[in-house]
Amino acid sequence: MSLRILVGCKRAIDYAVKIQVKSDFSGVVTEGVKHALNPFDEIAMEEAVRLKEKKLASEVIAVSCGPTQAQDVLRTALALGADKAIHVEIPAKEYETLQPIHVSKILAKLAEKEKADMVIVGKQAIDDDCNQTGQMTAAVLSWPQATFASKLDVKPAEKEVTCEREIDGGLETIKVKLPAVVTADLRLNTPRYATLPNIMKAKKKPLAKLTPKDLGVDVTPRQEVVRVEEPPKRQGGGKVASAQELVERKQMSFKIQSNFERKATFSESLNVNNLNQNMDQTLKNDRLIESLRVLVKEYLEIHCYDTALFWADKICVFEKDSIKDLYVFIHCLFCCGQYQRALNIIKERDLNRKNILFRYVAAKCHMASKEYEQALEVLNWEEHNASDKVLINAFENAVNFTLNGRNIEAALNLLRGQIHEALGCSDAAVECYKSALHGDVFCYEALHALTSNQMLTSKDENQLIQNLPIDIQCDQKQAEIVKYLYSTKLSRPNKQISSYEQNTECQQYFKENLDILINKAERLHYEGDLKESYNICRKVLEKDQFHKSCIPLYVSTLVHLNKVTQLFEIAHSLVKQYPQDAVSWFAVGCYYFLIGNMDPARKFFLKATCLNRSFSPAWLALGHSFAQESEHDQATSAYFTAAQIMKGSYMPFLYIGLEYTLSNNFKLAERFYQQALNVEWDDPFVLLELGVIWYKSQNYQNAEIVMRRAYNILKNISNKNISIEWEPLLNNLGHVCRKLKKYQDSLDFHRKALALQPTSSSTWTSIGLTNIFLNKFDEAIEYFHQALWYKKTDLVAKKLLDKCLNLVKDHSTVMTMDEFQLDIKDIMLTKQNQQQNQKQPKSKLIEANLKAFSTDYSMSESMSYAPLNRTDESAMDLAAADDGDSIINP
Ligand code: AMP
Repeated sequence: MSLRILVGCKRAIDYAVKIQVKSDFSGVVTEGVKHALNPFDEIAMEEAVRLKEKKLASEVIAVSCGPTQAQDVLRTALALGADKAIHVEIPAKEYETLQPIHVSKILAKLAEKEKADMVIVGKQAIDDDCNQTGQMTAAVLSWPQATFASKLDVKPAEKEVTCEREIDGGLETIKVKLPAVVTADLRLNTPRYATLPNIMKAKKKPLAKLTPKDLGVDVTPRQEVVRVEEPPKRQGGGKVASAQELVERKQMSFKIQSNFERKATFSESLNVNNLNQNMDQTLKNDRLIESLRVLVKEYLEIHCYDTALFWADKICVFEKDSIKDLYVFIHCLFCCGQYQRALNIIKERDLNRKNILFRYVAAKCHMASKEYEQALEVLNWEEHNASDKVLINAFENAVNFTLNGRNIEAALNLLRGQIHEALGCSDAAVECYKSALHGDVFCYEALHALTSNQMLTSKDENQLIQNLPIDIQCDQKQAEIVKYLYSTKLSRPNKQISSYEQNTECQQYFKENLDILINKAERLHYEGDLKESYNICRKVLEKDQFHKSCIPLYVSTLVHLNKVTQLFEIAHSLVKQYPQDAVSWFAVGCYYFLIGNMDPARKFFLKATCLNRSFSPAWLALGHSFAQESEHDQATSAYFTAAQIMKGSYMPFLYIGLEYTLSNNFKLAERFYQQALNVEWDDPFVLLELGVIWYKSQNYQNAEIVMRRAYNILKNISNKNISIEWEPLLNNLGHVCRKLKKYQDSLDFHRKALALQPTSSSTWTSIGLTNIFLNKFDEAIEYFHQALWYKKTDLVAKKLLDKCLNLVKDHSTVMTMDEFQLDIKDIMLTKQNQQQNQKQPKSKLIEANLKAFSTDYSMSESMSYAPLNRTDESAMDLAAADDGDSIINP
């Protein structure tokens, strides 16, 4: 008679993983954690296979109860020698509450169904440490049990098993009758490794699927886990009689410790005396190698990469064929920055062709060496060589390790995206980043890449987040957090995304989190509230001086708010600390820009683009520095480059439009503004600029429509009052309404502007002007006085005041509009001449304004607004906006 043996194969957290208790103490963290066949089950399986090899058993059946991934361990069991496998599928949610009693009942049912003579399970699962399943299975079946077996002598003919068990202080030998349940202890055998041919064969072995229901087993939980906690830290201490004893103890504890690391919870079952007897006497033994592996892992953790590399290399001396150890060695090389050496080893052994992880590392090495084309070639290798897929799969299974359970495809897509971005292929990069996020919703880097460089329009960003499989890949709590965090990252969330943000628990937890504060600052910046944005940036940088995501935004607000000294300080320390970072040189460029020194500004912006070609703020700023000196062609070309990178941003188009406006090419300007609106259909900046060119073309009706649209949008997006930066829009609306003879509206808008900026002489003058058109000369005179109170040199106010006073004095009748316009031209030309004679004009910004005045006062200085960017970059747009003023006056 030969036996049919059923072996329990639990998918447990890998022994090498440091177990972490969940923050809510409900269990241990399993998501994203590497799993493997429970080590005691490997021993159980080895024993069963050995019995079969001795012809004492006829069939070995591996059983695993668990979610779909349990099939991985069944394939391992089949590769180790099982004849067939049964997967009892338990959905992930139910599996969390599956208890030994349920597994026992399932095993018992299967033992009956499969007519098994023996059930071998591990003595315990190293994740829950229950040590119950074997015993309970015996009870359910009413079979005898031989637990903690360290030696088995099976006699099928006599229907008898003799079992040696390790007990405190010695060994116990028992005999049980078959059928019986056996639980395997550590020293029952040393399990084999799966060979490549066996892995191949395992793929063809039968794997049946059942559910507990098929077996009539109810898996409703009967226990509730109240709390899971880490054990208290162990306290050391104790006296030794001599130095010799100390050395001996140290040696012993090292051996025990390395064993402990290998089979996480084995320590209880270790008997030091037995261990000594069983120690392999040769230099190369499992314990030595395991201890070295632990060493390498620890050195990597404490960033002693060279030491880790040294020992990883030595492990490879012992384990010449171990792909896993070779991978660790190459990982160490990568950490040490020895990219070419790593590549040579991978190529020499053709590893990148055989395993996806090696392809990944190889591509990373190429990427780090800026060999982008080669990196892409390595990553795309698989697609071009599909015929070798069988070999690859076999090899990958043989290696049977992944990035600690994380989705390697997502990591590959992220890397592909980064390479495409570095090569300037934004469209391809966007697709790869999107795939990375879909494959792994936790892959924040992909989201950051998409949003920080504005690769997607705000509509597409919203859609992306909405369509992410967050609920599928995350449990409920994680999903809430992911949704909340990602929604705060969007500058213009739609209704649904906004609802994610309303999670009060998350708001409470993360309210002081710096990333969240930065997102808030970015949104404020986007909405034009620069002061508040700046305040938040300061708060963040006070806590974390070099917070990477905050710095570009901070630099931008400094430029907008004209804070030269602070800009100098941050640029200085950035260059000192991070000379290789594009943002450092961008900050330096911004400083020179702000003090009006365009040559060095350009030099540093260019340097930033050389360090990171995809750093769009530097391209925009470069464009502004050219625009500042009327180098329209160069400016436009820099903006075009930015447009290639920031596919989802309206800004480059807006600036190109401004350049065309400056060169009086309104048709082209309008085309680019329209293009900007195609990207962001309701952007107030673009609408305002479009309004300006329509105003310039004397199409006041259209100008009014778009400017009012901008105004309404602003009212909607900012719950609070419109920020001071939008004062020009209000004044422009005042001017447009006056042109359309809607004097009351005109006054309303100017007054709103005044509420934001009460000291603006030009607004006071504008109100005075509208009053003239209303024949209210006395009021007008008062307003001009007020304007002159704030700015004594306001020539426009002065001349208008003189004119009004004369009119009142002469009791003349109402002047005609034409007369008035002529007067204004006259006044402004005087002003222009005066200014031009001044030695140091503040570049053409003043000239532009003067020109604006000289032809038509109505669009006055108030147009010198700064088109703001939504994130960090174009700190320079102040200047571009000033240039934008010249739009008013061809
Ligand atoms: P435990 O009683 O949980 O410590 O587990 C003891 C042994 O029961 C394990 O070593 C496995 O052999 C078996 N076992 C426990 N859970 C499962 C499971 N979900 N699927 C298959 N076997 C299991």
